Amino acid sequence: MKKKRSGISKNKQKKKYLKQFASTGKSSVNYICLKCGIEEEIPKDVVELIPLFDEGADPLTAPQFTCEKCGGEMYPEYYKNPMGIEFRMSDVR
Ligand SMILES: [Zn+2]
Repeated sequence: MKKKRSGISKNKQKKKYLKQFASTGKSSVNYICLKCGIEEEIPKDVVELIPLFDEGADPLTAPQFTCEKCGGEMYPEYYKNPMGIEFRMSDVR
């Protein structure tokens, strides 16, 4: 008995997962820099894809960006992830 096939089916599942997110489009998430207050709209697709590429990412924390202006942390004004967990700017301010 050989178990070689398990790896293949796993990759297939991941691909399907990515495709699902890529097609949900349209909306975007408003990110605000905690340091300088600048706002930036990030497509929701992109926000949702971050945890998939960052294996160390905790699904219980909001995907975060680094501010291009000051290097500070950017946090979503409001974001609900695919698991239904909500993040608000007011949580960190
Ligand atoms: Zn900033």
